[in-house]
Amino acid sequence: MNKRIDICPCGAGNKSYADCCGRYIEGGEAAPGAEALMRSRYTAYTRLREDYLRSTWHASTRPAQLGLEQDVATKWLGLEVKRHEHKEADHALVEFVARYKVHGRAHCLHEVSRFVREDGKWYYVDGDVSWGPR
Ligand SMILES: [Zn+2]
Repeated sequence: MNKRIDICPCGAGNKSYADCCGRYIEGGEAAPGAEALMRSRYTAYTRLREDYLRSTWHASTRPAQLGLEQDVATKWLGLEVKRHEHKEADHALVEFVARYKVHGRAHCLHEVSRFVREDGKWYYVDGDVSWGPR
């Protein structure tokens, strides 16, 4: 892997990981909005960063563990954010499609995710998911 062109997997422009989602995942900076948080969570999945995923998951819905370490078969291919909508100041929806491969077979995950802001920090709550072949 070429580290000089370490483009962030979330697809938000041609920014490097360090200038994009790495700021939130590694730098401890809070994502400024639901879409940025959603993108950084996608990137965290690609990097098996269970710690970050749990820390950005709302306490009411957070799973005890995600088991990402065991999930080495999933290869994430790309993210497309379809919609970002604020319900109220502290509630937002983000609709996205994420493409991935498992054992060479392509899939896509289509989700409308709910986010909430508490004490100035955005959290993922839950989502309506549909899976399908791409
Ligand atoms: Zn990013």
